[in-house]
Amino acid sequence: METVKLIIDNKEVEVPKGTTIQKAAKLLGIDIPTLCYMDLHDLNIENKPGGCRICVAEVKGRRNLAPTCSTRCEEGMVVSTHTVRVLNARRTVMEFILSDHPKDCLVCPKSGNCELQSMAHRLGIREIPGQEYAAMSTYRKDFSPSIIRDLDKCIMCRRCETMCNTVQTVGALSAVNRGFMAAVAPAFEQNLEFSTCTYCGQCVAVCPTGALTEINHVPSVLRALVDPTKTVVVQTAPAVRAALGEEFGYEPGTLVTGKMVAALRALGFKYVFDTDFAADLTIIEEGTELLDRLTRHLKGDKTARLPILTSCCPGWVNFFEEYFPDLKDVPSTSKSPQQMFGAIAKTYFADILGINRKDMVVVSIMPCLAKKYECQRPEFSVDNNPDVDFSISTRELAAFIKQANIDLKTLKDEEFDAPLGESSGAGVIFGTTGGVIEAAVRTAYEVHTGKKLERVDFTELRGLEGVRSATIDFNGLPINIGIAHGLGNARKLLDDVRSGKSQFHAIEVMACPGGCIGGGGQPLHHGNSEIIKERAAALYREDRQKPLRKSHDNPFIKKLYEEFLGKPNGEKAHHLLHTHYFDKKKKIMIKQ
Ligand code: SF4
Repeated sequence: METVKLIIDNKEVEVPKGTTIQKAAKLLGIDIPTLCYMDLHDLNIENKPGGCRICVAEVKGRRNLAPTCSTRCEEGMVVSTHTVRVLNARRTVMEFILSDHPKDCLVCPKSGNCELQSMAHRLGIREIPGQEYAAMSTYRKDFSPSIIRDLDKCIMCRRCETMCNTVQTVGALSAVNRGFMAAVAPAFEQNLEFSTCTYCGQCVAVCPTGALTEINHVPSVLRALVDPTKTVVVQTAPAVRAALGEEFGYEPGTLVTGKMVAALRALGFKYVFDTDFAADLTIIEEGTELLDRLTRHLKGDKTARLPILTSCCPGWVNFFEEYFPDLKDVPSTSKSPQQMFGAIAKTYFADILGINRKDMVVVSIMPCLAKKYECQRPEFSVDNNPDVDFSISTRELAAFIKQANIDLKTLKDEEFDAPLGESSGAGVIFGTTGGVIEAAVRTAYEVHTGKKLERVDFTELRGLEGVRSATIDFNGLPINIGIAHGLGNARKLLDDVRSGKSQFHAIEVMACPGGCIGGGGQPLHHGNSEIIKERAAALYREDRQKPLRKSHDNPFIKKLYEEFLGKPNGEKAHHLLHTHYFDKKKKIMIKQ
């Protein structure tokens, strides 16, 4: 590999040719401030538009300051990153950005976690010259079921555009207008709701300001908690326990499962359950579907559609409904764990309590913003009563716990309630890319072969590579498995399915890079992909510690089928736990 040697702040460094100054400086431990640059190297995601101009530095022999995120290192270069001239330039740029920014920091949803505010503090800005000339705060807000866009807070860093278009290939956001009215918005400046947005929330996860935030369901949850006529039940998704601690000062990858349960009880939830239970249920239903299609396929039945595609990620469901509606009979019809949980809570569990479903409120704690939209889909309600009433993100839960003055660190671990709180390790790993299909393989193998699995850790299905594949031997029958995380990667596998080239029997897709651990509702990773890796490791740790590691071994799941559902994928199970998909393109065209 060809390398170049250069000097940055009087230190010599040798880097591969083509490396940017920003990256080379990082190797020397020099942190050059930036608002637009983002490098999630483990996920192969980089945003370097050279747009904010905060990261400028002096390069010896050049008249103009150079943006370090887009300037490549050259042999013999001498770079100074913090001279008086550089500091002055950064301050001036920052003052320009702030002069056109709303001043509602006290009530901004990003308050306390805003990169723009931190940068202003870091650069020592104490006043903003020229405000009186700026066309500010024209109240350009766009509310969708999951995401709020506040166009006045857009600083054109274009991180959201990179995530939406380059990484996810969703194409919902791009730069519009110029000058003070410039912003990143859907085509023709329409609302997100009527764009191709999948609500994966990756734009929110990387936005450095309050321009993209989530719809807040906490006030509605608070109202339900104080209503004496309501029984409020909460479910927590697997990825939440691996990230919530970060908001309270724990190292990334610290599991806070027991403390989270204790905090939810302290907040007033009557029953604290685990979405992992519903993940086990999903595996029974999805695994049954896989084996049914596989058996029919092996018998020569041409109507058996393979590969089966997982369907537990609503961002992914929105994506194929939008871009691959012709393939809508290919994915599994199993509902997501969030929705399976809601359907069971408001039937089976409401019956146990002897209450009407209208008197039960189901809240989900999710790493995900698409879940907010999913729980509002009309097909997931009965007589206008949704199976899941409200969905709050990991970040919202953290804020809620802090508002209630609960000190998470001093809480003693508590256990989930029964019966919807018991889960296997297979349910836990749903939260990371590859986990859903690994969980399905653990069950499908034993059901298909009638033999006990000696090895439950399928490490060949794990990792962070965007597209992965493996062949698992089902006692002489090779099962080809594909995995994609990030919708751009999923698109590649779907194109093969559409053209009939796909050799897979089953494909797992998660919309967010890394899976739900990297979801749009998780604590902000601020461009550090190590955090995503630590969260994944935490879930595999919890899986290993579980006494049961296969979904079909969960005794509460067995009981649920015996007492209530009947057969997997039987009439009742199908009615409650399965769904159907739409051609979203048509819906969007009608709305336009
Ligand atoms: Fe939501 Fe997880 Fe899908 Fe992301 S990967 S959209 S967090 S379900």
